[in-house]
Amino acid sequence: MKSFIHLIEEVQKKGLCHHCGGCVTFCTAINYGALEIDEHGLPRFADQNKCIECGLCYSICPEIDELEQETKKKIGWKPPIGNVLETHIARATDGFTRTKATDGGVVTGLLMHLLERGHIDGAIVARQAGPFNREPCLAVTRDELIDAAGFHFETSHGMKHFSHDYSTFAPSVQEFRPMLQKGLRRVAMVGTPCQIKALRRMEVLGIVPSDVIKYRFGLFCSGNFTFGDAERDKLSELGNFKWSDIKKVNVKQQLMIHLTHGDVKTIDLARLDFMKRYACHFCKDYSAEYADISFGGIGAEEGWTTVITRTPLGRAIFADAINTTLELYKKEDKPRTLLEIMDIIKKASSKKQKSAEEYRSQHV
Ligand SMILES: Cc1cc2nc3c(=O)[nH]c(=O)nc-3n(C[C@H](O)[C@H](O)[C@H](O)COP(=O)(O)OP(=O)(O)OC[C@H]3O[C@@H](n4cnc5c(N)ncnc54)[C@H](O)[C@@H]3O)c2cc1C
Ligand code: SF4
Ligand code: SF4
Ligand code: SF4
Repeated sequence: MKSFIHLIEEVQKKGLCHHCGGCVTFCTAINYGALEIDEHGLPRFADQNKCIECGLCYSICPEIDELEQETKKKIGWKPPIGNVLETHIARATDGFTRTKATDGGVVTGLLMHLLERGHIDGAIVARQAGPFNREPCLAVTRDELIDAAGFHFETSHGMKHFSHDYSTFAPSVQEFRPMLQKGLRRVAMVGTPCQIKALRRMEVLGIVPSDVIKYRFGLFCSGNFTFGDAERDKLSELGNFKWSDIKKVNVKQQLMIHLTHGDVKTIDLARLDFMKRYACHFCKDYSAEYADISFGGIGAEEGWTTVITRTPLGRAIFADAINTTLELYKKEDKPRTLLEIMDIIKKASSKKQKSAEEYRSQHV
């Protein structure tokens, strides 16, 4: 049976580990303490003697394909971008949520709806932990959900607080432990496609703690970024902006940097390869194909979110939140048809798939 030793050889040493934390989370849940996360976010042995060689860390790793067919079957995955029930453009009805949100605040609005209706006890989200750094957290109140909305830069503490190691990635799967410790039984999880995939792998195996996650919200993802001071300087040069002027950032077809005085600077994503996490170059999933609902900004007007419902559960909760915490884009205002939007998403997905395949053939 393959175990963590094989993950080191087949995933970590090849640079394919995207720090989702799935292996450590599961191993810690079975409570022997064989694995831990190191200071760079990589899983490692805490004590190899405590490994019972169950092999489950290996099976659930999203980079290992042995459960791929079963996972796809379980969620009714279809080519080319997974199961699609409906596509919508929507936003939160609450104006304050929208000012905090990345796009239309639909993720936060939907989570608030689930919480207010008593469908969930909390949600795993990611809050600002410093300039261009996010950390996973368990939100159990409306205020905590709003606090975690968006994808902002925090520059109020001044540049001296910038470290050499910025990361936009938040290893949300690692919040499973606090979730269990607090005794929560019905939780929604927001994550990047790789995190949702790790979660689905756990579900296929029927292992704790995935049974507590009742709703899986996936964010479209063209990649996460890690960088130090040199890259930070290069980025501000490329975008012709000062870091102290940033209000918020967003990733759509381009990196969009919203400045405090109203200007928006854009940088082509292809020019950001120098700060993309290495493992993200090998990733094929753009639109969170394994989620109940996927969310992105691509295809939607500024201030609105593109939503794909993928499972009947996802469709039901989205429909239930319309005209409460969420509103749909009015048909007559639509600059694009839903078919055109789907076409944009398919093109972005296909571009990511091709680029990942090319990268894999050249580097693995
Ligand atoms: C790294 C990254 C790359 C992205 N790339 C694209 C892209 O290429 N194209 C595109 O169309 N959309 C992309 N998105 C998705 C987009 O930025 C929005 O998150 C999405 O449109 C939802 O917007 P919203 O206003 O409805 O969400 P909000 O209401 O603002 O809620 C966003 C939720 O996501 C959580 N969150 C924020 N950052 C992270 C993170 N790093 N990890 C896990 N959870 C997080 C927040 O805690 C919050 O719960 C990306 C998102 C991230 C985090
Ligand atoms: S105990 Fe199981 S999950 Fe933990 S490291 Fe060993 S094989 Fe992996
Ligand atoms: S499960 Fe996630 S953190 Fe663990 S080796 Fe695989 S990609 Fe890396
Ligand atoms: S591109 Fe996004 S989904 Fe893929 S490994 Fe990177 S963070 Fe995860």
